[in-house]
Amino acid sequence: MIVREKEPMRLHTSFRAGGEADWYVKPESPEELLRVTKECKKAGVPWYVVGNGSNLLVSDTGYQGVIISMEGFDELNTEGSILTAGSGVPLFRAANTACREGLSGLEFAAGIPGSVGGAAAMNAGAYGSEMKDVIHSLTVLTADGGVRTLMREELSFGYRESSIAREGMLVLMAEFALSPGDTGEVREQMEELSRKRREKQPLEYPSAGSTFKRPAGSFAGKLIEEAGLKGLRSGGAMVSEKHAGFVINYENASASDIYRLCREVQKRVKEHAGVELELEVRLLGDFSGADRKEEEG
Ligand SMILES: Cc1cc2nc3c(=O)[nH]c(=O)nc-3n(C[C@H](O)[C@H](O)[C@H](O)COP(=O)(O)OP(=O)(O)OC[C@H]3O[C@@H](n4cnc5c(N)ncnc54)[C@H](O)[C@@H]3O)c2cc1C
Repeated sequence: MIVREKEPMRLHTSFRAGGEADWYVKPESPEELLRVTKECKKAGVPWYVVGNGSNLLVSDTGYQGVIISMEGFDELNTEGSILTAGSGVPLFRAANTACREGLSGLEFAAGIPGSVGGAAAMNAGAYGSEMKDVIHSLTVLTADGGVRTLMREELSFGYRESSIAREGMLVLMAEFALSPGDTGEVREQMEELSRKRREKQPLEYPSAGSTFKRPAGSFAGKLIEEAGLKGLRSGGAMVSEKHAGFVINYENASASDIYRLCREVQKRVKEHAGVELELEVRLLGDFSGADRKEEEG
């Protein structure tokens, strides 16, 4: 198991910002993972699990605890139309394997830069499909340290959420129920969606994708654009000119820059349209310093 002290979290988050984690560990088996969580509990040290860090903003003061990376859970195989993937497997790898095996269902996920575990926990989705549409079951480490396999119906998936976080479970492995398809057609669909992403999204800058959840009856990007906020900056963070739903790390942004810009966008959209935008990005660490500076400024 890899264990590192004082690990910069900007190396592990797609925003490329944030301070250090006191400890960063990479277990490679459920037993090692259980050992880490047990030791943390015994020592009263908090821990937090990360997949690919593509929906995560860690504060500049870092994380005073143990970051558990699931990268080591990397098994990937297919049997019939079931694809089994460890929680650390990048979605594009799972989607590419499905494609090669002539299995359809994961095309929508190929361009989401998350891990299988993070995407399952968040019920990530795109282009009209969500993880819950293809997840057959998840094998999890439960809050009391047991390993259980839960069927899709038991996971109460919602919009960008599931019972995984609510019940303090960790995803170890996912089974996807896919359909027989044609490799060429699956690849074509993946390429088409990837073209759309490149066209619409500011993929040339670090970000965490859509910063805010889609509010009922509208789109966050549309509301932000209508409030005239494209190009709005806070330090090195900026509301993308290409897609207003993305807050980007334009130029060496700190996590506080990104955080303050998110809050400013929320405030101005509320004033302009009366809508409360909710962050889709997960915050980790202490942002009270950024809040204080916002009040002073
Ligand atoms: C350019 C770009 C485009 C994006 N496009 C989309 C999109 O189209 N659709 C979409 O839904 N999202 C999108 N995202 C956001 C992000 O990729 C997804 O939310 C993704 O599912 C997050 O996965 P992750 O492994 O990076 O999770 P992380 O960011 O590492 O973690 C996210 C949350 O999941 C939890 N978590 C991670 N792994 C596990 C695990 N094994 N068990 C339990 N909990 C876990 C973490 O604790 C955290 O709360 C985009 C991001 C970027 C940067």
